[in-house]
This record gives sequence, structure tokens and C-alpha cells, in this order.
Amino acid sequence: EAKAEALNGPHYFDYYLMDKLLERVTIEKKMARALAEGQFELHYQPKVDSLSVTLTGYEALLRWKDPVQGNIPPNTFIPIAEDTGFIVELGEWVMWEACRANKRWQDAGLPKLPISVNVSAIQFRHPNFLRTVEKVLAKTGLEPRYLELEVTESLLNNPVLIKETLVELQDRGISLSVDDFGTGYSSINYLKSLPLQVLKIDRAFIQETPSSVRDSSLLQSIIHLGKSLGMTVLAEGVETKEQFEFLQQIGCDQVQGYYYSRPLDETAMQKLLESWREQLLSK
Ligand code: C2E
Ligand code: MG
Ligand code: MG
Ligand code: MG
Repeated sequence: EAKAEALNGPHYFDYYLMDKLLERVTIEKKMARALAEGQFELHYQPKVDSLSVTLTGYEALLRWKDPVQGNIPPNTFIPIAEDTGFIVELGEWVMWEACRANKRWQDAGLPKLPISVNVSAIQFRHPNFLRTVEKVLAKTGLEPRYLELEVTESLLNNPVLIKETLVELQDRGISLSVDDFGTGYSSINYLKSLPLQVLKIDRAFIQETPSSVRDSSLLQSIIHLGKSLGMTVLAEGVETKEQFEFLQQIGCDQVQGYYYSRPLDETAMQKLLESWREQLLSK
């Protein structure tokens, strides 16, 4: 990038920025309409227990199917939704959809497993957040213990402000996960003092294991840290058999990633739950 800039002079950079700005303005305007027109949907990515390879839950992941542009990835539109504040409305929609889907599957006699929902820091800090969660649970009839919230380390930077909300969520039986762990800068002291149940280790730490000795040893240390804090440890982005077996060996509790399953659309997720029905309901 630096090289391209040097070669083409400032013009290249200006056009680039302008393009980015235009993209943002366009996406921002389109998002509200897309929500009203039903262009958003949820996919679900399974989580499994490492040792028994049993389904333990699934994460809701937002998808945007634009009729013209096709699929727009969350990493493109979520940051814009966060900047504009639209994430509050979009996040509330996700909460409704996720809780409804989970309840519907439970009512259909499928295994009762928790659903996790990603929550942006902006959404979490909104004064109505707790009320919204309560309203969704009450109206969908979903028991709070089937809802898990995934928050990122950036939220934990100001523990004083969020502790009360975290404690209130915990008191209701809603569990909390730290997403993308290792990419932010949460202090171990915060992890210790806040009610957080699951540590989701970012894909970056799994990618080069077990081939990289350094990364493998780092991964072991993170797992050890999580367990010392009394947390359940989950590895994200597990893509290969080698990674999976290594994680089993070093005592990682749960895994999620393309190796076991990519995120599934609603129909495919329902099929997966059906395939687990006998084994999970006989217990
Ligand atoms: P995340 O919560 O950390 O979700 C994991 C991301 O990694 C997902 O990308 C998933 O499809 C992808 N992934 C899962 N397994 C693998 C693997 O084995 N290899 C690779 N390379 N990738 C894998 P996705 O769905 O594109 O979402 C990206 C991010 O967007 C999410 O990261 C989350 O931060 C955000 N996001 C998605 N849905 C929502 C939502 O409803 N609300 C909010 N606030 N953020 C969301
Ligand atoms: Mg997540
Ligand atoms: Mg993650
Ligand atoms: Mg992420």
C-alpha cells in the first residue's frame, strides 16, 4: 500500500478514500431499507465438545443478501452499522430472530441447546439493552439459560461501566462469552472480576497450530489461563483434523470452525439438530 501511494502520488490515496466514503454512505442508506425488506437473515454455526464431539450449541451469524450486490459480509457492514448507530436496531432484530428460532426448534422437540448472539459494544452500552433482552425473552418464551451473549474484549476496557449489566444478565441466567480473545487488550484482572463464562480464542491463534511450535505453546498458555479463571475455553476457526486433534490433546473444552461445520442456513441447521435428536434427548 505504501508503495502504491509512493508511485501514484496523493491522487491514488484521495480516490481510494473517496471510494471508501461513497461505499459507506451507500451501504448506510441501504441498510435500513434492507432490514425492512427482509434482506437480512441468520445462519448458525455449531459448537462441539472436543472430547465427545457432541453438539453443545450454535452461534447466530448475520447475513445480508442484497438483490443487486449479492452477499455483503458482516465485516463490511457491521462496522458501518456501529458508526451510524444502526447496530442498535439491527442487533435487536438479531436478538428476536435468534431467540425465536431457538424456541421454535425446542418446541418442535429438537435438542434444547443454547444459542449465542454477537453483541456490539455500542449495543451493549445502550441504556435500553437489558430491557430489550428481557422483552425478547418474555415475548418469545425462551428460558434465559438458552441465551448466550458474545462480547468482544473492547467492551471490557471500562469494567466499572459494564459490570452492573453483566451481573444483571448473569443473575437472570444468561451466559456471557468473550469473543475473539487475544486480539484486543483485556486485562486479566477484568477477566477475573467480571462474570464471564466462556473464553473464545481467536482464530489467529489456531491457524498456525500445531505446525508452529511458538503458536502451539501460546495456545496452550491461553487455554491454561482460561481454565485458571474458571472459564470454559473454546477455539474458533478450527479448520483441520490436525488442529482439532491438537486441541483435544491440550484440553480445549469446545471447538467451532469449518472442520466440524461451516455456518448453516436455517434449513441445514434444523437438519443437523434432527440428526442429533436421538443422542441428545436420550440423555
Ligand atoms: P465472530 O463472532 O468471531 O464469528 C466468527 C466468524 O468466523 C464468522 O464470520 C464465521 O463464519 C467465521 N468462521 C467460522 N469458522 C471459521 C473457520 O474455520 N475458518 C475461517 N476462516 N472462518 C471461520 P462472519 O459470519 O463473516 O462474521 C464475522 C464477524 O461479524 C463475527 O465474528 C462478528 O464479530 C460479526 N457479526 C456477525 N454477526 C453479527 C451480529 O449478529 N451482530 C454483531 N454485532 N456482530 C456480528
Ligand atoms: Mg462470535
Ligand atoms: Mg470470534
Ligand atoms: Mg469477530
